[in-house]
Amino acid sequence: MDTVNPLLVSSASGLKMDVNGGEMSKNPTLICAPIMADSIDKMVTLMAKAKASTADLVEIRLDSLNNFNPFEDLNVLIKQCPLPTLFTYRPVWEGGQYGGDEKKRLDVLRLAMELGADYIDVELKVAHEFIKSIGGKKPEKFQVIVSSHNYQSTPSVEELGNLVVKIQSTGADIVKIATTAIDITDVARIFQITVHSQVPIIGLVMGERGLISRILCTKFGGYLTFGTLEAGVVSAPGQPTINDLLNLYNFRQLGPDTKVYGIIGKPVGHSKSPVLYNEAFKSAGFNGVFVHLLVDDLEMFLRTYSSTDFAGFSCTIPHKETAVKCCDEVDPVAKSIGAVNCIIRRQSDGKLFGYNTDYIGAISAIEDGLQARYNMSSAAGSPLAGKLFVVIGAGGAGKALAYGAKQKGARVVIANRTYERARELANVIGGDALSLDDLARFHPEDGMILANTTSIGMQPNIDQTPMPKDALKHYSLVFDAVYTPKITRLLREAEETGATIVSGLEMFIGQAYEQFERFTGLPAPKEQFRRTMSKY
Ligand code: NAP
Repeated sequence: MDTVNPLLVSSASGLKMDVNGGEMSKNPTLICAPIMADSIDKMVTLMAKAKASTADLVEIRLDSLNNFNPFEDLNVLIKQCPLPTLFTYRPVWEGGQYGGDEKKRLDVLRLAMELGADYIDVELKVAHEFIKSIGGKKPEKFQVIVSSHNYQSTPSVEELGNLVVKIQSTGADIVKIATTAIDITDVARIFQITVHSQVPIIGLVMGERGLISRILCTKFGGYLTFGTLEAGVVSAPGQPTINDLLNLYNFRQLGPDTKVYGIIGKPVGHSKSPVLYNEAFKSAGFNGVFVHLLVDDLEMFLRTYSSTDFAGFSCTIPHKETAVKCCDEVDPVAKSIGAVNCIIRRQSDGKLFGYNTDYIGAISAIEDGLQARYNMSSAAGSPLAGKLFVVIGAGGAGKALAYGAKQKGARVVIANRTYERARELANVIGGDALSLDDLARFHPEDGMILANTTSIGMQPNIDQTPMPKDALKHYSLVFDAVYTPKITRLLREAEETGATIVSGLEMFIGQAYEQFERFTGLPAPKEQFRRTMSKY
């Protein structure tokens, strides 16, 4: 894999010139709705939906149709479409569904042009001949997109550059390159190509690891992105919905100067952080976007996306501990916990600073729960002082909870699947360790506090619990760091046995307050965070 020059992965030169040499608007990137259906009637219905969704154009996938009568059907599709049309008739040899005669296929695309299509997409392999064949007959506003699809990987920057030159040499009006992300850092190479392109270019990277290519093309000079009308009904792997582009990522407001933030994790798709921060960025008028970042290798990710455009990250499973080593400086609390969940890139020199905001929200929500249960006033000091506090898990969240509880004067016991990790953490903070097997039998006293910090019970495994219901009767308060679902099986059963319960949502909101302030320098919109999260 080639090294990416971090300076190049910057959007500073991201504005393109239009044909007259004038500067285009901040974000001219179009949203294209792929239309796939087996009948013309269904396609017409979908086109109306695309218009209602405020897409800018539709891509009509002729290869998804059954019983296609070119002249009649193209006429209907073009006349009835309320949006500009892009026709694609993708052959099997380029990943589409059309398996018939090549000449007939290209005749259909020529016919679409003659009948008033705005764009057609033609594959690189046949583009030269095709464009020659329409020479002189091209309507003025009509444009040919010449596309290349790589379903295996994303080539090197040099190879991609050569590909662009090859596509341009066919006479393409717009260059389209779609590749596949094996790793999220593959997308950086596509950004390098699109941001420096002097011709209109579509550069998209397929798959979950390529998602940012479909959102940040606004920042890095992409001509268009695809947004689906319905979740999961995609014409290529990894396409987001138009609704998410517009309402989750604020697509229309993004531009070359937008700062990029994100949640780094694996898995990460379940995280609600993008909803929370993007809504807050929007209402604060802050020029940032917060994305899901499915990262396999944290060090490589941070090295690749090292420009100050990538301004801050939240960090979750399984990277919080590695993050300590990847930062240039780590806050003393995060250092003692041994886990970083918030990384800030200093804008003056690009240096990375690591923090831990995990424990604050969780510990204060647990204190609130205990105060309410025992009718205590906050003036009486922490209700955790002297309590037996059992933490299940010794990862990032486990360390944070154990550290926070110890700080408040609790006696801490760590139980973990890997006993050695429990032992190690117990030694560091000054507590005891248990194996998970011994946990259910551990009840030296009643009124203990239990905090699950493993992912047991998290969606989709919502029937799982780290503790048999019967053993919960010894606990007065049970906290679960898992927040999808809000009420886990552990919390439901704890409530049934009479314990006070505290959801991971409280921890989530608490840590988010502090991260927002570090990301933006603005006060966190606490009430808005609560309202946003109450929808889940
Ligand atoms: P982490 O650093 O990877 O640690 C995971 C911990 O869970 C380890 O102790 C691991 O045990 C244990 N574990 C994982 N799968 C297990 C299984 N099947 N059975 C038993 N133990 C298992 O992860 P983390 O960042 O601490 O996050 C842990 C959980 O907390 C996640 O569900 C995350 O979503 C949640 N969380 C929530 C918030 C919030 O704001 N609510 C914040 C942070 C984290 P081993 O040591 O044996 O591997």
